[in-house]
Amino acid sequence: MRDHEDILVFTEFKDGHPLKVGLEILSKARGLADEMSGGLYAMVLTDRADGFDMLFKYGADRVYAGIDESFRYYTGAYFSRMAVSLVENIKPYAFIIGATAMGSMFAPEVAAYLKTGLAAHVIDYKIDHAGNLVQVVPSFGSRVAAEILTPHSRPQMSTVRPGTFELKENLRNGSIVHLDTSELDYIAPRVTPLGFEEVKPEGMPLEDAEVVVVGGGGIETREDWENLKELSRLLNGALGCTRPIVDKGWSDEAHMVGTSGKTIKPKVYIGIAVSGSSHHITGMKDSGLVIAINKDENAPIFDVADIRIVADYKEILPALLSMIKG
Ligand SMILES: Cc1cc2nc3c(=O)[nH]c(=O)nc-3n(C[C@H](O)[C@H](O)[C@H](O)COP(=O)(O)OP(=O)(O)OC[C@H]3O[C@@H](n4cnc5c(N)ncnc54)[C@H](O)[C@@H]3O)c2cc1C
Repeated sequence: MRDHEDILVFTEFKDGHPLKVGLEILSKARGLADEMSGGLYAMVLTDRADGFDMLFKYGADRVYAGIDESFRYYTGAYFSRMAVSLVENIKPYAFIIGATAMGSMFAPEVAAYLKTGLAAHVIDYKIDHAGNLVQVVPSFGSRVAAEILTPHSRPQMSTVRPGTFELKENLRNGSIVHLDTSELDYIAPRVTPLGFEEVKPEGMPLEDAEVVVVGGGGIETREDWENLKELSRLLNGALGCTRPIVDKGWSDEAHMVGTSGKTIKPKVYIGIAVSGSSHHITGMKDSGLVIAINKDENAPIFDVADIRIVADYKEILPALLSMIKG
């Protein structure tokens, strides 16, 4: 039985701006809150009183803002204390958090304090016939879409990966409620951040690129991998990878596409020596034109490809590079 209909979204801020994933979740949650006749609230912990208008633009009815120097960097204890206090105070039906590096640490900590369930990497939400908010999560290597409910505790918590939902403007004339940060004085965080050094991913971010070249486990040599880099550069695109390439140390998880990596929707996806495991397909299935090069005509990637090239990439790649350069 539902007590409260409201949805609370934690919107992570950086340098006075909300991260896009928070706006994507608000865009999706706006429709859900309307269907449940509830409110849509955004929670922000930031060191600056900037950027809240974006939250109203994407559908928030109210912003709960904690503004304090200590929110400049993520510190588990301060953030989870504020979230637990707010949730206990406003008792939302659902609490949704972006599955960023920070959100993936923050969400389970808050769920543990609140003794409630947490569904990770939700790909869709729907309302069932009884009016419950159902969380859809890929399971068993993405072969099954599991429907998860937290029946006995509130809030029902979940995380959503960047790129899962479309941005949709829905301007609200909302209000800002300032959160009391005085109780932070009584908390001793176990970690005191001294600074923040961002490691910029090499090349264009996968999420922003219109063309993504993905190299898979069939890429044999480092030299071939460098050739894929060149191909992606020549196409003004980004270079992504599958798990075996990360394992070889040629790229990193910031460039991996799939269940435990990024979700991408480029206009053109070019998969080279990628088998098309369900873990990978989950992250690229909404791409526009899908081109696959694989020497195995039965490779599963061909099931989702628009252009299927059954060939050895070692023959195709040099020809492709000289054609584009040429
Ligand atoms: C919980 C979990 C989460 C995971 N998450 C992810 C994820 O987010 N992203 C991800 O990518 N993987 C993920 N994996 C791993 C995933 O299951 C697969 O193992 C991985 O995607 C395989 O990558 P691949 O297809 O590139 O390599 P392989 O399976 O090694 O396939 C290589 C392909 O290259 C082809 N090939 C070989 N040589 C050539 C050639 N010369 N020319 C043309 N084609 C050639 C082969 O025919 C084959 O189809 C996850 C696994 C688990 C268990």
